[in-house]
Amino acid sequence: MKGKIIIISAPSGCGKSTIINALLERGEIDMQFSISATNRPPREGEQHGVNYYFLTDDEFRNYISQDAFVEYEEVYPGRFYGTLKSEISRITDEGHNVILDIDVKGGVNVKRMFGEKAISIFIEPPSVETLRQRLVNRATDPEDAINQRVAKAEYEISFAPEFDVTVINDDLQEAISQVDSVIKGFIAS
Ligand code: ADP
Ligand code: 5GP
Repeated sequence: MKGKIIIISAPSGCGKSTIINALLERGEIDMQFSISATNRPPREGEQHGVNYYFLTDDEFRNYISQDAFVEYEEVYPGRFYGTLKSEISRITDEGHNVILDIDVKGGVNVKRMFGEKAISIFIEPPSVETLRQRLVNRATDPEDAINQRVAKAEYEISFAPEFDVTVINDDLQEAISQVDSVIKGFIAS
């Protein structure tokens, strides 16, 4: 059956985007990326309608009041991220599977909503210190944002047991191939 939901969650910096992009580039799995909406500003190189739908605070609030989201979270103070109902249906109505890169609470909620139609995969860092180092090396966030993300990570890691599968992202190629086989198994089931 097509139109399944693949949820990838983890604290920021654990490698979700890297793993998802590697699998999308390989193109072996029939799945499309769910573009989330957010009110955070774009990072260098990010594009509206590709990485996110970048919205103003007012636009985001309007979507909330129109009940347009499957789920949304205030992931960081004042920073909202949400999965639009229209985005999921755009992809699944065409019979494609959809892959979501969403925060840990969002991941738990979407799995609860879609049940057997969804698989939830938690990406864990080898350690919180390694996570900090990756965020520093990524060099996309100011120091206070990195501190905020690391501080939240330990709390988020405590949600790992609520996910269907946990993959530790130590060796990147190993993590990619584990996620690849989990998704292929789920889609074939
Ligand atoms: P997320 O999407 O979860 O926030 P990213 O995919 O942006 O995380 O990864 C954060 C940073 O860590 C990136 O610079 C990425 O290149 C790097 N990275 C990802 N996986 C590994 C790994 N296994 N070993 C070393 N660096 C990694
Ligand atoms: P970033 O600012 O690094 O792109 O993303 C920050 C966090 O927001 C990440 O954990 C990412 O997975 C999460 N996120 C992105 N889109 C959504 C979404 O639609 N819903 C929820 N709940 N979280 C999201």
